[in-house]
Amino acid sequence: MAAIVVVGSLNEDLTVHASRWPKAGETVFGERLVRSAGGKGANQAAAAARLGGEVAMVGRVGDDAAGQRLRDGLRGLGVDVANVAAVLGTPTGMAVVGLDASGGNRIVVIAGANSCLEPAALDGIDWRGVRVLLLQLEIPLPTVTAAAQAARAAGVRVVLDPAPAVSLPDELLGLIDVLTPNAREAATLAGREVVDVGTARLVANQLEARGPRAVVITLGAAGAVLADGNYVTHLPAPKVAAVDTTGAGDAFNGALAVALAEGQPLASAVIFANRVAALSTTRPGAQASLPDRAAVGRLP
Ligand code: ADP
Repeated sequence: MAAIVVVGSLNEDLTVHASRWPKAGETVFGERLVRSAGGKGANQAAAAARLGGEVAMVGRVGDDAAGQRLRDGLRGLGVDVANVAAVLGTPTGMAVVGLDASGGNRIVVIAGANSCLEPAALDGIDWRGVRVLLLQLEIPLPTVTAAAQAARAAGVRVVLDPAPAVSLPDELLGLIDVLTPNAREAATLAGREVVDVGTARLVANQLEARGPRAVVITLGAAGAVLADGNYVTHLPAPKVAAVDTTGAGDAFNGALAVALAEGQPLASAVIFANRVAALSTTRPGAQASLPDRAAVGRLP
């Protein structure tokens, strides 16, 4: 198996651009329809592969053209998709994104085949050679827990991006090596607002006490706060001209997995992830905006 295994979601994103969004019962003409590859799992696998990571994805798509496109796209980036199976009679996961002229968005996600990723999907995985397991929460929670258990038992580092935001049982948190919420997700988990570096430090400590070995709270342009056993530290992101922050968190997690799989200490891995994620905000799109290693190296 590859050094990095992502067990997670694959979605097709359908972005509809309209000058304004209709109210209930109303019809408007839109201007543009853009189809793109998405899903937090696939985005993070793509981010890691773009940076030169050796990545295998475990997931489910539908037996439709969208599922084929998503698998082909990941394969094109060098991701092993042997464990991304097509589920008969079920549509590929889809996110319908409505964008209006003011940049406001509303998103409806249909989980589709992602909800068919059951714990049994992990049976065939040979954890030998795997350094990092990367998880998010767009697949059934029992599968997330089973994957974390199997990886932990095999001595594989477990990174969980707890997105979308939900509260989680301590049983799962205790299986996690690095928990990577953004400010909103951290607030949901802790029941306490994260508004700045100071509150992020407090919440990171609070979350760490619930079981994860380390907690990294991402703070947008402010970078990230890392609580790692004995210390809590703020690691700022480089200053960039951000044009689209969609998928910044996915770029961050993919990069973190690559650095950890290379054996970098956690603080260096967070610094690398900040650089990659900051760069990803300077270009539009989620997967389309992912930088490669050369671009990261050019950042001052
Ligand atoms: P999410 O995308 O999950 O909401 P954040 O907004 O916290 O997560 O962003 C994740 C990471 O992306 C940050 O920790 C930072 O490294 C980078 N980032 C996001 N927005 C910016 C920005 N405006 N400038 C520089 N880096 C950014």
